[in-house]
Amino acid sequence: MPADTIAAISTAQGHGAVAVVRLSGPDAVQIADRLFVGKEALARTRSHSIRHGRLCNLSGNVVDEVLAAVMKAPDTYTGEDVVEISCHGGLLMSQLVLQAFLEAGCRLAEPGEFTRRAFLNEKIDLSQAEAVADLVAAKTRTAAEHALRQLEGGLSERIRAITNLLIGALAEVEARIDFPDDVPEEIKAHALIRTLNDCAGLLEEIVNERAAFVLLSAGARIPIVGRPNVGKSSLFNAIVGRSRVIVSSLPGTTRDTIEEEIELEGVPITLIDTAGLRSGTEEIEGEGVLRTTEQIRLADIVLFVIDASSGDSHEKNLAPAQSSSEHHMRAPAQRAYEHQMGAQCAYQNDVEILRTIHHKPLVIVINKIDIASPSAARIAVESCISQEIDAGEIVEVSATLGTGLSSLRDLLKARLISGNFDFHDFACASQRHLSSLRSAHENIENARRLLESRGSEDLIAVELREAAQDLSTITGSRVGPEVLDSIFSRFCVGK
Ligand code: GDP
Repeated sequence: MPADTIAAISTAQGHGAVAVVRLSGPDAVQIADRLFVGKEALARTRSHSIRHGRLCNLSGNVVDEVLAAVMKAPDTYTGEDVVEISCHGGLLMSQLVLQAFLEAGCRLAEPGEFTRRAFLNEKIDLSQAEAVADLVAAKTRTAAEHALRQLEGGLSERIRAITNLLIGALAEVEARIDFPDDVPEEIKAHALIRTLNDCAGLLEEIVNERAAFVLLSAGARIPIVGRPNVGKSSLFNAIVGRSRVIVSSLPGTTRDTIEEEIELEGVPITLIDTAGLRSGTEEIEGEGVLRTTEQIRLADIVLFVIDASSGDSHEKNLAPAQSSSEHHMRAPAQRAYEHQMGAQCAYQNDVEILRTIHHKPLVIVINKIDIASPSAARIAVESCISQEIDAGEIVEVSATLGTGLSSLRDLLKARLISGNFDFHDFACASQRHLSSLRSAHENIENARRLLESRGSEDLIAVELREAAQDLSTITGSRVGPEVLDSIFSRFCVGK
């Protein structure tokens, strides 16, 4: 239990009508009484009440006219005696008041020290303490709402529920170790596996919610990628909703990348128009292509555009020697085969590029369906890489007419947000929590596998114990001082 009394200015520095200097610690009331001159001593004031008076420094000079709020332990923010002095605002006045308290025996609080004391006095758990920092730092209303929910204990409650399930499972495993004859093995193993599956599922939910939250706050990067002249800039303009990029019929006009922030069903998206890519067998376009490659690397989803009319020009190039009657006289199977082979040739370069980026989440857009049938492009994509790319992720559009754009938006939204999240109704795990959640999940999976393969009960118990320990680092029942230091160093002084 800290023995000293800390003080800091708790309001933002700068001009304002009122500033608050906060004291917390065993001598908070006594030190305040040394400087406060009012109708009655603060030590005799009822807890949680406010007194008007003057604040003098140790030399007896009046510093300011103030209000003193006296809150006695344990029902205070820190769990200690707290006095909050509201003085006149502005940088100078609050500094003078603070200075007077430092001279009278307080120590200047470190960043986050009030909240750290609240944690040490079990007024809040660690995930709630972190929510305080998030709340102070929140830039958007949604982020603040999440921090507030966490401050109310949303995440802690869920973690505790999972921990209780784990401890129940651990108790059963230990019972089997200690009293092997009394516990019927078969029945218990099934029930335990079910419990562990529930725990794993609940952890996955929290991790997925975190992914959705990150998406919501950071947004998604979606570059529009494809060969030159397939209509990337036109699609970019069509999605953004105004003519932002110069559309040109000369290949390779967008040598640089152009970005625009848009919102898709509440998710902020950075849409990026990129320089046209060429396949390995074509000439490389230099710097622009390097930038496109970098955009692909950073992408959350790549919109890969193919020109539906490429097949037409290919047929025009290859087929002039054949009369149409000759073409139709051939057997249907042969025609279908030729059609497929033709499609593959026409889109060979697109497919080559596609193969190099199929590791990224992709949405394939067949563009220019107002002037050409999309079927050849679809055949080419599906037949060449059907195992690697889900056909459901192909969408047909006309960037010029706007056809198919709403399907494209729906598809993007579905790819971005897996699961049905109500963005306003979940407690969000932080980056620090994520590694504990993942590690607990792994231990639970190991325990489940051991149970299924009738592995050693001692090993199962070890895995379950580790999982419970991982989770306890989230609420803070088992964290070292260095973790606390790193968490509270994110705070501002006075919080
Ligand atoms: P980028 O090089 O891939 O960015 O392609 P652009 O957007 O500059 O378009 C190249 C050419 O294709 C331009 O002449 C566009 O007008 C044309 N174009 C783009 N989208 C469509 C479309 O949906 N239909 C038609 N008919 N032409 C299009």
